[in-house]
Amino acid sequence: MSYDVKGIREKFPILSRKIDGKPLIYLDNTATSQTPQSVVDAIVSGYCDTKANVHRGVHTLSQEATELQEESRRRVRDYLGASSVEEIIFTRGTTESINLVASSFGSLFPQDGEIILTVMEHHANIVPWQLLQSRRPDLKIRVVDINDRGELLLDQYRSLFNEHTCMASFCHVSNVLGTVNPVKEMIDYAHSKGVPVLVDGAQAVPHIHVNVAELDCDFYAFSLHKMYGPTGIGVLYGKKEHLLRMPPYQGGGEMIAHVSFEGTTFADLPFKFEAGTPDFVGIGALPKALDFINEIGIENIEEHEQELMEYAEAKMREIPGMRIFGNAPHKSAVISFLVGDIHHYDMGMLLDKLGVEVRTGHHCAQPLMQRLGISGTVRASFAAYNTKDEVDAFIAALHRILPILS
Ligand code: PMP
Repeated sequence: MSYDVKGIREKFPILSRKIDGKPLIYLDNTATSQTPQSVVDAIVSGYCDTKANVHRGVHTLSQEATELQEESRRRVRDYLGASSVEEIIFTRGTTESINLVASSFGSLFPQDGEIILTVMEHHANIVPWQLLQSRRPDLKIRVVDINDRGELLLDQYRSLFNEHTCMASFCHVSNVLGTVNPVKEMIDYAHSKGVPVLVDGAQAVPHIHVNVAELDCDFYAFSLHKMYGPTGIGVLYGKKEHLLRMPPYQGGGEMIAHVSFEGTTFADLPFKFEAGTPDFVGIGALPKALDFINEIGIENIEEHEQELMEYAEAKMREIPGMRIFGNAPHKSAVISFLVGDIHHYDMGMLLDKLGVEVRTGHHCAQPLMQRLGISGTVRASFAAYNTKDEVDAFIAALHRILPILS
């Protein structure tokens, strides 16, 4: 069956809008993807038909809302290949998922422990560990570098492990370079040294097949808003053996078994880590995002995005002064670039005038920018609904703006 990009686009109301009278060409999918009508309808239904707080009431609405939320948890479990719903924790996003692990799992780290990160991490996988370090100055952070293509130096990665290493945490796919890291190999190596691994999957789950059982990772974090789902919802997958040992991250309603001023006991998994009222309306809608992906097939989405990226990169390389950051053979649908000494911000501003929405700046990866010796890039990134015509329009827009800026 051929890839029906026209049919896919029709599911996204926003794609028919105009920017300054020009057709919208949305190439900022790494920051957030657009949302199909089916997800929007499910959110509307969550407010109009079934809104009641979850896990709180005996009444019909509360039971229906609770069932929607717990069905979503089962869907995420199945999508990820996790073995139990107890291992699926709903959070506000990748950021909160990683903060949860750093704060809670991190509190169990031994004296003088060492954490391995990489230079290509998003701030969300750097700062939570630094916050832990500010409470535990004995902890050390060690950082894996990259080569010129933007691939991790695996020999260096292996050489950083020693008897103090207590955690390795790295992205599956870089949000700047697009590099798809060999996470299975990296996890296996960490495990051979007895070290648990967190994978930041924010840029992987929307684009490539992910199965936590196959990866055997200890934790996996991602956000629904980057994968056609509602905003403000993330997932933390964690192995039950770890989650059982970990103290709660936040306290409040829903995460307790019994509270008294003499002492409080906590709820079972996964609720121990879900204090307060979650975005149950959004969570209830997320299966529609998984349906959207499943109907096309994640492998087909990946293939389509790869074609767009390769097509765009080939045309971009014809532009004098073009520098593309991230040229790993295994790369996902992101192109970060600069042209000559033109400022990324100026390019982004002018592209916007032509309806092309790209990201500019450091992309929440300042250590990587420092490593590359630049202050930022322009970043074009693709999703299931982008087309070759849009790539052509983007390239044409570049050809229009570059003489103005040079
Ligand atoms: N990690 C990576 C690799 C990302 O690309 C992002 C989002 N840009 C995040 C973490 C943070 O995701 P969120 O803001 O949804 O928590």
